[in-house]
Amino acid sequence: MGDQANPFESLQEQVDDAGAYLDTAPGVLDRLKNPERVLETNLTFELDDGSLETVRAYRSQFNGDRGPYKGGIRYHPGVTRDEVKALSGWMAYKCAVVDVPYGGGKGGIAIDPADYSETELERLTRAFATELRPLIGEDRDIPAPDVNTGQREMNWIKDTYETLENTTAPGVITGKALDSGGSEGRVEATGRSVALAARETFDWLDRDIAGATVAVQGYGNAGSVAAALIDDLGGDVVAVSDSSGGIHDSDGFDPRAVKAHKAETGAVGGYGDAESITNEALLTLDVDLLVPAALENAINGDLAADVRADVIAEAANGPLTPDADEVLVEKDTYVVPDILANAGGVTVSYFEWVQNRQRFYWTEERVNEELERVITEAFEGMVDAYEARDTPNLRTAAYVVAIDRIVDAYGQAGNWP
Ligand code: NAD
Repeated sequence: MGDQANPFESLQEQVDDAGAYLDTAPGVLDRLKNPERVLETNLTFELDDGSLETVRAYRSQFNGDRGPYKGGIRYHPGVTRDEVKALSGWMAYKCAVVDVPYGGGKGGIAIDPADYSETELERLTRAFATELRPLIGEDRDIPAPDVNTGQREMNWIKDTYETLENTTAPGVITGKALDSGGSEGRVEATGRSVALAARETFDWLDRDIAGATVAVQGYGNAGSVAAALIDDLGGDVVAVSDSSGGIHDSDGFDPRAVKAHKAETGAVGGYGDAESITNEALLTLDVDLLVPAALENAINGDLAADVRADVIAEAANGPLTPDADEVLVEKDTYVVPDILANAGGVTVSYFEWVQNRQRFYWTEERVNEELERVITEAFEGMVDAYEARDTPNLRTAAYVVAIDRIVDAYGQAGNWP
């Protein structure tokens, strides 16, 4: 990845940038730059050989003015307290910009899950769920999948919570498997919103996404689905990568075939006759659309100077550092910010929770239609703010919309003496 910008400092800078376009009282803006609380704890669990291991785990509840805290749980060696705090803030702003009635939260464990067996991961996840139990709940804080976690981990957390609480509460967590109360369309939702956001941006710029060349960095859940759906819109995916490197073919790939190759071999590399490229080369390819879909800090100011894409749709959270944003504004590169572009995940998580609460389940068609409405309306709201307030970029406009909504909710609740 690029430089080692502290993602929490990046978040605070983004809030300050937007604050300059609002007349929010400084005391209120400060509330919006720091989490309400952070759990930092030990998880001690048994390995298959009978020994015990202790790892650090975190859950940050950033802001609950608009509803229950909401956000994923990440398993990655790079997880830190500051990373989790930043990710929880991005969730609060994401929920607000798409007007989903949630606050923001995020959790993580600093491990590489590849180092553990499935039974070890189950014991670890259940230990985390036990620590989280007093904090989470259908109306309190609702975790979800993030990097290296998925339906399996969500089902374990739900089961632990329900067993300890002696109840059924499928809405305590989202991203569950269908038979455990999951929603149709949830797995594809993040990539779908990235594709929708890219389509809206091209329309707004009077350009056609059909025929646009596309590079995707990171080929997991978000990146591979975005690539397939952008391909469905007529885009031409010419480069993709994962943590072991990238592939490039100017004739374009079939993104679903690349995904099948990665599922089979563990990497995108080695697909067909494609030429190998480094991640840095992928990020600076001369393409119409770049989709960073890996982790934070993929593009810093130095790398941004070499970026040649016209539009960047952020599938990952925080892939651009604030100095990259400054460079890209100067170059007239349009960046669709993470808090809007990848908001499909939390939006369909919200639909899943609504279905869980009603015990009434929607068709995939309904989920996708409602998602399209939410993302296109949020896009219009962001562009209106960009044009009306003359913000330097779409990110600041999205934050202006989001902060306005949170501040309104806070103000309407009133302040206790
Ligand atoms: P994932 O684990 O499914 O995929 C991550 C991908 O990134 C993998 O292909 C991995 O090999 C690749 N990667 C890691 N380091 C890389 C590097 N240095 N260069 C290139 N590729 C690299 O995770 P995901 O769920 O797709 O999440 C990806 C990003 O999208 C994260 O920032 C996550 O927070 C964000 N996101 C995901 C969701 C969701 O619903 N899955 C929702 C919102 C945001």
